[in-house]
Amino acid sequence: MLDGRHALVTGGGRGIGRATAARLKAAGAAVTVVGRNRASLADAVAKGHATAYRLADVTDPDALGEAVALSARTHGAIDILVANAGAGEAAPFLEADAAQFRRMFELNVLGVVHAARCVLGDMTQRGFGRIVAIASTAGLKGYRNVSAYCASKHAVVGLVRALALETVAAGVTVNAVCPGYVDTEMTVETIARIAQRTGRDRKDALGGLLRGNPLGRLVAPEEVAAAVLFLCSTEAAAITGTTIAVAGGEV
Ligand code: NDP
Repeated sequence: MLDGRHALVTGGGRGIGRATAARLKAAGAAVTVVGRNRASLADAVAKGHATAYRLADVTDPDALGEAVALSARTHGAIDILVANAGAGEAAPFLEADAAQFRRMFELNVLGVVHAARCVLGDMTQRGFGRIVAIASTAGLKGYRNVSAYCASKHAVVGLVRALALETVAAGVTVNAVCPGYVDTEMTVETIARIAQRTGRDRKDALGGLLRGNPLGRLVAPEEVAAAVLFLCSTEAAAITGTTIAVAGGEV
């Protein structure tokens, strides 16, 4: 399905990024994973979940540009970008200072912007491209105590909608996949944080997270990856500027 394509997945060393890299590679693409942690990225390649890795912090446009250029030289221009790298910080709004908002926007929004800038020129020139940002249900609705994260993910959805209009005539689609709580290290950290703040045990804290989710369980990273794969297919050429929630009916 993706034979001959080169996909780049930011934050591809673990979690949703790793599962997505593996799915795209299984579908025939050469996959370069990018991140800061050499050990997890190298492990993704060693286990056959990715073809190659490059070290770069997505908040550093120069380092990211260099990583993209090097990987394009090795495996060809990037056809597919999965802008997945991201993180969440939590605090009640009055404790969420401007610095927290800046960190969330720097990583979750500008990290996507920098990555898209690195690949869009080639994509429009070649007349094919797929950009999928991993946003969140926090880009579609509000949650308590994560105002900076929610604002940043809403910004990602806005970015995707706007960018889609500028690129579709050139054969490039830009979409967002919006997962609910996914079974990854990020959610393990969220549960630990809630347990610490509320004095509940982790099982209770997880139960609290799942209460808003009709599916009643965490989403599997592979379920997110399957939605990304569909958006990257040739058949999805008419789907752009949209969001797919992978959230068990939460939104
Ligand atoms: P993890 O914490 O498991 O993984 C995050 C990944 O992002 C890591 O591979 C990390 O790689 C990378 N990363 C973080 N900061 C940077 C940076 N500055 N530069 C480069 N890479 C970076 O998270 P998930 O897999 O759960 O989340 C992936 C995405 O999905 C995020 O954008 C998150 O907001 C979103 N999401 C997650 C949900 C969840 O419940 N888990 C729900 C909805 C959305 P490294 O350490 O190598 O830098």
